[in-house]
Amino acid sequence: MTPAPTPPLGDCQLCRHRKHLWPHKSKRDGLVRNLCGGCHESASLAEERGGFIDFDQAHTHGSDEDLLTWLRGDL
Ligand SMILES: [Zn+2]
Repeated sequence: MTPAPTPPLGDCQLCRHRKHLWPHKSKRDGLVRNLCGGCHESASLAEERGGFIDFDQAHTHGSDEDLLTWLRGDL
């Protein structure tokens, strides 16, 4: 992995913890979310699997089935 300059501190949009944040641009909805390292990785993995980053995204862009899958935590 390439070392990056330390990003600014802020509230992660997924886990709500105050951490160093990296911008994550969604391939699915094109939105940029400021996420901590762990959430950034989860978000990338979720999208690679065809899943969703957060509830809003599943709600807005997914089918009912996608939403249920999200709620079950399968992705
Ligand atoms: Zn986070």
